[in-house]
Amino acid sequence: MSSRFNALDLLSNRENIQTSVLTSRVSEMFGCNVFNDKAMKQYLAPKLYKQFKSISDSGESLSRDLADHVAESMRKWALQKEVTHYAHWFQPLTGRTAEKHDSFFTLNGNGEAIEEFTGNELVQQEPDGSSFPGGGLRSTFEARGYTAWDPTSPAFILDVNNQKTLCIPTIFVTYGGQALDYKLPLLKSQSFLEKSAIDVCQLFDNTITKIHVTLGWEQEFFLIDEALYNVRPDLMMTGRTLLGRLAPKGQQLDDHYFGSIPERVYAYMTDLEQECYKLGIPLRTRHNEVAPSQYEFAPIYEEVNIAVDHNQLLMDIMERVAIRHKLRVLFHEKPYAGVNGSGKHNNWSVATNTGKNLLSPGKDPGKNLQFLTFFVNTIYAVYKYADILRASVTSASNDHRLGANEAPPAIISVFIGDALSKILNEIEKGIDLTDDGVKQALNLLSKIPNLQLDNTDRNRTSPFAFTGNKFEIRMVGSTMNCAAPMTIMNMIVGKQLKEFYQDVQILMANNSSKDQAVLMVLKNYITESKAIRFEGDGYSREWKDEAFRRGLGNFGDTPRALDAFADDQTKSLFVETGILSEDELEAHYDVRLDEYALKIQIESRTMAEMSVNQILPAAIMYQNTLIENILSLKELNLGEQTYKAQLELVEEISGHINSIKQFAYSMKQEREAANKLNSKDKAFAYCDKIIPLMEQLRSSADQLEPLVDDELWPLVKYREMLFVR
Ligand code: ADP
Ligand code: MG
Repeated sequence: MSSRFNALDLLSNRENIQTSVLTSRVSEMFGCNVFNDKAMKQYLAPKLYKQFKSISDSGESLSRDLADHVAESMRKWALQKEVTHYAHWFQPLTGRTAEKHDSFFTLNGNGEAIEEFTGNELVQQEPDGSSFPGGGLRSTFEARGYTAWDPTSPAFILDVNNQKTLCIPTIFVTYGGQALDYKLPLLKSQSFLEKSAIDVCQLFDNTITKIHVTLGWEQEFFLIDEALYNVRPDLMMTGRTLLGRLAPKGQQLDDHYFGSIPERVYAYMTDLEQECYKLGIPLRTRHNEVAPSQYEFAPIYEEVNIAVDHNQLLMDIMERVAIRHKLRVLFHEKPYAGVNGSGKHNNWSVATNTGKNLLSPGKDPGKNLQFLTFFVNTIYAVYKYADILRASVTSASNDHRLGANEAPPAIISVFIGDALSKILNEIEKGIDLTDDGVKQALNLLSKIPNLQLDNTDRNRTSPFAFTGNKFEIRMVGSTMNCAAPMTIMNMIVGKQLKEFYQDVQILMANNSSKDQAVLMVLKNYITESKAIRFEGDGYSREWKDEAFRRGLGNFGDTPRALDAFADDQTKSLFVETGILSEDELEAHYDVRLDEYALKIQIESRTMAEMSVNQILPAAIMYQNTLIENILSLKELNLGEQTYKAQLELVEEISGHINSIKQFAYSMKQEREAANKLNSKDKAFAYCDKIIPLMEQLRSSADQLEPLVDDELWPLVKYREMLFVR
């Protein structure tokens, strides 16, 4: 039996997998595997606990002595939970997480075995960093990377088949302290934003002394049975199907979205949720997505650093739990051509120490000026720095969404809804700067909350939308580390708020009242950023033309989108805000280019291999059957019409065989040429020379699929992957 039918057979004979039933209330198990505040209070002397809290709030560095105490309390807590190892857990530029495990066990001076964990080990570790992407930041003789504890994200226990490891969230840097990860820039961006945001907040409310960015992500993904996954080399190597003809039924009927969750998937989700609750990941929502076999998880939003860690951790756990259920998770942005891909919407907002969401309009007109300030400044920041934001979410896999026939388009625009558009327009046109004018404007603002209620229109084609009390960034790809776009959001809004504050100060120095000054500046910003606001259909041809006229960027692929990182103005911005040095930014740019070229290289090789090793033999075998049949019919002498169809089939198949062979060969030549180029030219060559060949090859292979005997076709078909449960 061929591997395809073997896999299908395995699938139909799957026994039900036992799932652990939710045994206790979520509130009882929530966070039980996290060294959270409660655990720390319990294991650390009150005086030390207080000391630790005040230090981590202020961002000062920890004394060695205190670190020793914290490490000791972590060790006690962890040993009581039967943890044997600890690991520094970090987020290299590969986009996923990495960990290096060490045992608590060590030998003391007398050669006796003891369990030990010192402050030193908690604070810093030196994994062999040479195999993580560094973009030339590490010369070969200094390949080491260092991890350093991030005390703002709690340690947690990773439990893999009862092997328990204490994981310590860390940043990952070079010997010289340069960032090799996504976490360090994120942390820097948050404190940068905080500084500028607090100055601005103080204009309105002097009780606001701290702010933090909030992030609520929505993780989309596909599930597939393990047996089917294992016989698709493309899924295994690249996470997406490189070949395969769309099934007659895709998502046209919309019968999957919010439909009943299949039993098997339900069992998986229940199991997964339990794991997440223990780790303090507040998953809240689960549902079917638009495409068949596509689903989504969303949590309650959290402080951005924690939310990012939780998303990274979730992706890891999703894969582990899936294996227990004989399933595989496909995080790829476009696992199947012709049906919807997966994104990871990032809901971004800013919260204050007074418990307010700065992007939530209220009834108090005074407070609404504060809302309007943050709202308009965010839009203005996105207008000015759209290209950097676009670059932050670009990747080989996300290219299948942005700019392809998929939500959202590659052009960045901001959707705010009718009600708020009207308000901005009125402020722009109507307000004069007399006292009456200001009163009139404040009056207008007090209507926002009621207007918001009616504003149910949610434009799903917009890449960046205001959804009532937060901005939803929809360009983020499902495989991505949210820290990448979050860092950019914090940086550009922080920078914009800084300018706003200065602009307001200038007007106030010239005798404007605060309200007048704020309104005047916002009015200008509204006018200047108008081009980025778009309420219509982001898919339409007209929008492309219109966006071009408005001068908005439209970068449909990664090498072009990444150019924004090489721009001089971008460099100054990163340096001025302190988020990345010029070296770090260059390295980041290089890593992202390399990653792109490598991904396409792997895809192209896998595709060639599959078509030459799997598809051509099947096609030739079927062709032989046809030829034998033609020869026999010829001998019967019943005339040409008895084998005419077969002859045409033979010819058609030959045509495709030839093209496949030829495209595979040309791809190889182009790859060889591309691999000789520098990072940038190489990325462009893979994009402009190799991808078009891949598309042509796929088209030939997909045309063969319905011509060849189904029994002989070696690859699991779309209908089998998408609809078999
Ligand atoms: P949708 O209709 O887009 O699914 P939801 O209200 O379900 O909207 O929210 C989606 C995500 O937005 C959730 O992860 C939620 O936690 C998050 N979210 C809600 N409020 C905020 C906020 N103030 N800051 C950040 N994220 C938020
Ligand atoms: Mg949403």
